[in-house]
Amino acid sequence: MRKKELALEVIKRLKKEYPDAGCTLDYDQAWKLLVSVRLAAQCTDARVNVVVEHLYEKYPDVNALAEAETADIEVIVKPCGLGKSKARDISACMKILRDEYNGHVPDDFNALLKLPGVGRKSANLIMGDVFGKPAIVTDTHCIRLCNRIGLVKDIKEPKKVEMELWKIIPPEEGSDFCHRLVYHGRDVCTARTKPYCERCCLNDICRKQGIK
Ligand code: SF4
Repeated sequence: MRKKELALEVIKRLKKEYPDAGCTLDYDQAWKLLVSVRLAAQCTDARVNVVVEHLYEKYPDVNALAEAETADIEVIVKPCGLGKSKARDISACMKILRDEYNGHVPDDFNALLKLPGVGRKSANLIMGDVFGKPAIVTDTHCIRLCNRIGLVKDIKEPKKVEMELWKIIPPEEGSDFCHRLVYHGRDVCTARTKPYCERCCLNDICRKQGIK
């Protein structure tokens, strides 16, 4: 099976397996997703979802967060790890949204990339989830699963994986496909244990690259 065919079949099966897979970070406004993705670096989404509740209780909008002292933000976001740099980025980011975008999140990939603490993964997540645009989010699950399944071969660098996936994933499927990889990576094709191939819906088509 060629990579493109394989990709389409994987998309089809994961859709069936996880029909409602979406972003596992809670948010009801675009700027909140921006905050959450920064906090999610080296932290679980579940913990981020709890921490942001405290943050938004105290700072309910972009202006409030932009005006907050970085040290005060740090106290709240500390449980997510890397408190100092995350607080610094969130503060700087909210100030830019307030001063340059009238409090809104820009719907342009390159503009997102210029925001403090926003890399390709975060920018893609926001493009896909907030704006419904084509997106490929290469997080740790995506990279591990795409290598194992055989959609890419021995590529670990996120940007390179993203570029390879753009060639074989229909753009409109990218965002949901990546969310489904997260679900599948947590439940079945796990990182810390041996993957549960015997109960995997991709068992007969997966190339099992790097699996002993
Ligand atoms: S068959 Fe095994 S290696 Fe392939 S995706 Fe499923 S669990 Fe992962």
